[in-house]
Amino acid sequence: MDIVLATTNRKKIEEMKKIFNVMGTDARIYTLDDFPSYGEVLEDGDTFEANALKKAVYIAGNTGMTAVADDSGLEVDALGGAPGIFSARYAGENADDRSNLEKLLREMEHVPDKKRTARFVCCIAMASAEEVKTFMGHVAGHIGKEPRGENGFGYDPVFYPEGHKRTFAEMDDKEKNAMSHRGRALRELQKYLLEKRGYFRGF
Ligand code: IMP
Repeated sequence: MDIVLATTNRKKIEEMKKIFNVMGTDARIYTLDDFPSYGEVLEDGDTFEANALKKAVYIAGNTGMTAVADDSGLEVDALGGAPGIFSARYAGENADDRSNLEKLLREMEHVPDKKRTARFVCCIAMASAEEVKTFMGHVAGHIGKEPRGENGFGYDPVFYPEGHKRTFAEMDDKEKNAMSHRGRALRELQKYLLEKRGYFRGF
C-alpha cells in the first residue's frame, strides 16, 4: 500500500512518519514534496474535520493514491476554544510558531492557573478511490506561563499534558507521540486499516 501524507508541515511529516514506523507498517510513505505541483489546499472549513477531509480528498483525487491528511490545533477554555482551527495563523496570516505562542501567552496573561485548561485536537482524514474516513484524537492539559523545552513545534513549549510536570517540548518524540492528539488519531487509523483491510503488520 502506498500512502501520501497531504501536508507540507515538516514537523508533522516527521511525527507522522515516526508514528507509522512504530506501528510497523509496510506502507510506502510519500509526502507532497514528491508531488510538488499540488500546492497547499485552502483551509476554509469551519471544523478540523472539514479541513482534513478537504486536503485528503484533493490529494487522493490528484495522485490516485491513498491520502492521509491532518488538521489540528489547540483549544483553550479561557479563550472560548481559540485558537482552534486558526492555530497556525493565530497571530496573523504570516504568523510563525513563535509569534503564535507569544500571542497566546499575552492573551492569557491574566488567566489564573486553575483556568488555564486546554486540549490539542487532531483530525486525521484518509481518502482513497474507495472510501473516505476520519479519525479524531485529543489530549487534555494546561497552558504554562512561559515556554519550556526545545523539542516539538507550535504550542508544545507551553502545553503540559494532564498529569505531567513537563511540556510536550520537554519530552522526546516517543513520549509525546504516545499520548498526543496526533498519535491517538493515527493509532485509530491504524486500527481501522488493520481490522478492515489487513494493511498493517508487525505488532
Ligand atoms: P494546521 O496545519 O492547520 O493543522 O495547523 C496546526 C497548528 O496547530 C500548528 O501550526 C500548531 O500551531 C498547532 N499544533 C497542531 N498540532 C500541534 C502539536 O502537536 N504541537 C504543537 N502545536 C500543534
